[in-house]
Amino acid sequence: MSRNAGENEIVVVGSGHNGLVAAAYLAAAGRRVLVLERNGWFGGGVVTRELTLPGFRHDQHSMAHIFIHANPLLAADELGLKARYGLKYVFPNPPMMSVFEDGTTLAIYRDRERTCGDIAKFSKKDADAYRRLAAQAATWLPMVAASLYTAPAPQGASFAMLDQSPEGREFWKVVQMSTHDVLCEYFEHDKVRMHFARIAGENLVSPDEKATGLGVFVFVGFMEAYGIGVPIGGSGRLTDALIACIKNFGGEVVANVDVARVRTANGRATGVVTTDGREYKARDAVIGAIHPHHLGRMVEGIDPAIAKAAAATQISPVACITVHAALKAPLKFRAGEAVRAVMIELLPTSYDTLRRSFDDLRYGGFSQYPLVGLGSLTMFDPSRVPEGRATMHVWDYVPFDRADGKSWDETKRDYAERMLEHMGRFIENVGSDDILQYHCDSPLDMQRTSSSFQRGDLHGIATSTYQSGAHRPTPELGQFTVPGIDRFYLVGPFQHPGGGVFGAGRATAVKLAEDLKIDLSKVAH
Ligand SMILES: Cc1cc2nc3c(=O)[nH]c(=O)nc-3n(C[C@H](O)[C@H](O)[C@H](O)COP(=O)(O)OP(=O)(O)OC[C@H]3O[C@@H](n4cnc5c(N)ncnc54)[C@H](O)[C@@H]3O)c2cc1C
Repeated sequence: MSRNAGENEIVVVGSGHNGLVAAAYLAAAGRRVLVLERNGWFGGGVVTRELTLPGFRHDQHSMAHIFIHANPLLAADELGLKARYGLKYVFPNPPMMSVFEDGTTLAIYRDRERTCGDIAKFSKKDADAYRRLAAQAATWLPMVAASLYTAPAPQGASFAMLDQSPEGREFWKVVQMSTHDVLCEYFEHDKVRMHFARIAGENLVSPDEKATGLGVFVFVGFMEAYGIGVPIGGSGRLTDALIACIKNFGGEVVANVDVARVRTANGRATGVVTTDGREYKARDAVIGAIHPHHLGRMVEGIDPAIAKAAAATQISPVACITVHAALKAPLKFRAGEAVRAVMIELLPTSYDTLRRSFDDLRYGGFSQYPLVGLGSLTMFDPSRVPEGRATMHVWDYVPFDRADGKSWDETKRDYAERMLEHMGRFIENVGSDDILQYHCDSPLDMQRTSSSFQRGDLHGIATSTYQSGAHRPTPELGQFTVPGIDRFYLVGPFQHPGGGVFGAGRATAVKLAEDLKIDLSKVAH
């Protein structure tokens, strides 16, 4: 189809990486795309900013790019983000490491035998069990990965298929088990169990939560096959590469435009209107990073029953709080062994302490033992700081509504100080003399930086089974479309496959392209 100058064919609400991925595919397929972003910067959860001092570049939200590497977007470099638009990764080994308060450590390496060697420090039996777990994870990985980057299959049919074979039934069993139950089946040592149990926490859930068991297999499978990608220059380099690609194909990406509503006429999306009354028409389609809680007020003519179900989707009661620090010097861990990994988890010596910390959160309190994780990616990419300096990105979990009724704006620095003090048990140089400056994002700040992160849920909505796959965020909205509104498509962490840097906007682009008969096969680089 020929392109008319000045006419937007596809308008995308939000410059998060998923909106940008969808926009980039459609721009590369010859459509005129316009991306509108509310913030004064681009990228949503994939952004690198000078949050503290000049020259210190911090990944404000995502820092670990894991699941996007199996996506054909990067696996086949379909848009040339790596070949043409400057996106470069390093894959440090080990990608993940636990540091226990008594100074011992345990890592997951890309190489299975090296991980087994580390586990054997605690239990030889557990090292053998890891061989079995990792082999199972590798067997399941292709099936899991194949489901992540396309529209989800119907839930009923998927489970019926799994029920046809012993292998399928084993997979389904693990899907329904808690992480803790799975770990008790495999491992005997407290620290080995705790090391893998902490992975569930990254999904904002306790290891005791039912239907989280598969997470360990997915994580281990991805660690061995892909590791964790650290983009040179920062997480936001992915955003930069996507924007360069969109612009190269004549698209536009505009900041400081707050979209109030998606316009519809005769059951079809026709454009958007901004909070200051500007209208942008979309000849072919609108794509929106619109949280399910906001669909009712933002999409004209939406079926009230669909909007009501979307508004009832549940957000995790466990919110995230982060501290980004500019450091005088690289971190010095107290642990006897070298600590060097993308994700570093600071853990107690007893597994029960970790489990009880999640229980504290379940009841709306602060966890008695902070569940601090951190990344100091200047270990692998010194280009992000002035010479000799370092950064750290620290996260912990808190309730969005504080039991003491205090506001996060008034108290976030007190909580940040608690995190830093706790870290002093593990790290020598995180005192006030070592930190040049720090920035703290409370759960409220996260919601402010992207409406995806409501109540500090970095996955948009909880990652429970009933809000997963084709039922994410609701059964009606699971195919990236809104029944009753033609030519309107959804992107966001609240859609399949969930929160994380997946490049999931590709699946939305594929769906839109099928509907509009756009040939994406020619796009592939
Ligand atoms: C603290 C934190 C740490 C994280 N760490 C990791 C990690 O290490 N690895 C990982 O894989 N994932 C991580 N995540 C999750 C990951 O960042 C997100 O799941 C992902 O970025 C979501 O991308 P998205 O494009 O779907 O949405 P978003 O990134 O939320 O983008 C949506 C964009 O749309 C804009 N927008 C929304 N509504 C409007 C409107 N009406 N008008 C105009 N613009 C609008 C928003 O401002 C935003 O820029 C983290 C998230 C957080 C909060």
